[in-house]
Amino acid sequence: MSRALPGLTLDELEHELGSRTRALEALKWLWSQRPLAAALPEAIPEVSHRVWKPFAARTGLTLPTVAQRLESPDGTTKYALDFSGTQVETVRIPAKGRSTICISSQAGCTRKCVFCATKELGFIRQLKAEEMVAQFMVARAEAPVEAPASNVVFMGMGEPFDNLDEVLRAVNVLTQSPAPQLRAVSVTVSTSGVLPGLQRFLAESKASLALSLNATTDEVRTQVMPQNKTWPIASLLGELRADAVRTKGKRQTFVEYVLFGGLNDTDDDADRLVQLLAGIPSRVNLIPYNPYPGTGLRTPSEEQVRRFHQRVVDQGVLCLVRWPRGREIAAACGQLVRSTSGEGFSPSEVDGAL
Ligand code: SF4
Repeated sequence: MSRALPGLTLDELEHELGSRTRALEALKWLWSQRPLAAALPEAIPEVSHRVWKPFAARTGLTLPTVAQRLESPDGTTKYALDFSGTQVETVRIPAKGRSTICISSQAGCTRKCVFCATKELGFIRQLKAEEMVAQFMVARAEAPVEAPASNVVFMGMGEPFDNLDEVLRAVNVLTQSPAPQLRAVSVTVSTSGVLPGLQRFLAESKASLALSLNATTDEVRTQVMPQNKTWPIASLLGELRADAVRTKGKRQTFVEYVLFGGLNDTDDDADRLVQLLAGIPSRVNLIPYNPYPGTGLRTPSEEQVRRFHQRVVDQGVLCLVRWPRGREIAAACGQLVRSTSGEGFSPSEVDGAL
């Protein structure tokens, strides 16, 4: 059986269907379904039954069922999507004129970031590219007309660079013409800082990048992200600096910085952050931490968040505060699936390059 239709590139479709015209018709059908079909149909317009039938028999659609759907008053909608017994999380975040879809790249995660609910699930399995694209399709289908789904962030469950072949394929499919034709700059892949994957991604993709930094010293970063022992701050930022030179600063780069009260939110941290980012054209997203039980980490005061932000901005770094959204629906990754599996959750924010 070949890959399911949502994971195929246009060139692969052409190979499968024997002509570019048929491949384009298949893509047109895939991205214009309203409502989404449960399975591939017997026939689609402009493709002969003789060609379509054997193709449909060896491929599939792999759209998930919606196990749970929670909508917050601000319109942020979180889905627990079920792919044949494996549940993952997807979030749709509306903004003025556009919606951003936050998708998962793995079910669970092998990384051990102490502030993250997903790690509690352990690692279940890698997601295929078609399952990532299918998450986008489900959330896109519900986006309001005035806020179409034009942006994707790989910031849901999982470390994208631990499943990089499939993530790169999903990025290629999402950005291919004629559909869905997202702009590469509108697709952001977020990493906790897996150096080999980071190097390959920067070499092979034009998509935007978000690095989850969260500390300004190796000591503190290792405390909240143990993998920092293997790939310390300087090694990660060195790659971003080299990429900025190589791409002439053209890549959209975000630095995610979750602020933990009393741990990484001091004036010295703000100053060090500015120094660390010298030579890296980027935008810092400050995310006040919303705790869930057992981490020992706490939320900074609003006053400290504003002070940190101002100190960074005053030194010439582009920096935004991402106040929590979707609190009512446990919108931080891992929390909904944990809740549906009876483990309980506390609400937090969807972070990221939104
Ligand atoms: S923050 Fe990301 S990389 Fe870290 S444990 Fe959670 S899902 Fe994995």
